[in-house]
Amino acid sequence: MPRSPVYYSSTTSTPKEIDLRAELQGTLFGAFDEIAKGRVGLYREMRRDDSDKRVVCECKKNVSDEAEKDFLCRPCQGMGFLWDEYRIVYYKDESSRTPTGELNFYIKYSEELRDEDYIVQVKLDVDGNPAAPVQREYLYKILKAEAFRSDNGRIEYWRCKTQEERQWSVWYGVNSRTNRPMIP
Ligand SMILES: [Zn+2]
Repeated sequence: MPRSPVYYSSTTSTPKEIDLRAELQGTLFGAFDEIAKGRVGLYREMRRDDSDKRVVCECKKNVSDEAEKDFLCRPCQGMGFLWDEYRIVYYKDESSRTPTGELNFYIKYSEELRDEDYIVQVKLDVDGNPAAPVQREYLYKILKAEAFRSDNGRIEYWRCKTQEERQWSVWYGVNSRTNRPMIP
């Protein structure tokens, strides 16, 4: 009767299979031997048209050149393009930060992420929930969203290489520390 071995001497390198989904789940939400390091934030998905071009905001159409930065535009908050935001949980890897403000984020396999969208860090309350009304603290542009797959092809987790944006664009229109008008 033919048998197939469970363990055998291999001449090729076969790294031990670990469940990377479970690993990241533990990092984000905690495990018996691990405190949760995930942080609630927002995923800003740029709205795109049928030909996959970002949808230009009215404020950018109406001025002759760039979006007017001294004018508060509520729909786009100064980006010049329309977007939608979704709640996500991420792990921000500060150890990956470069002097020019590039750094990596790790996000659960089940999210759909793409280049040129944004990760938004928001102010949290004492329980770790987003403060209301929302206060956007930092904005990170996704330079490269990479889905890491195991040998069988399933997505284990996402790693996003990002660029921290200059802070004025985040606080624009929502920060009382500037002289800019607040959103009513
Ligand atoms: Zn606008």
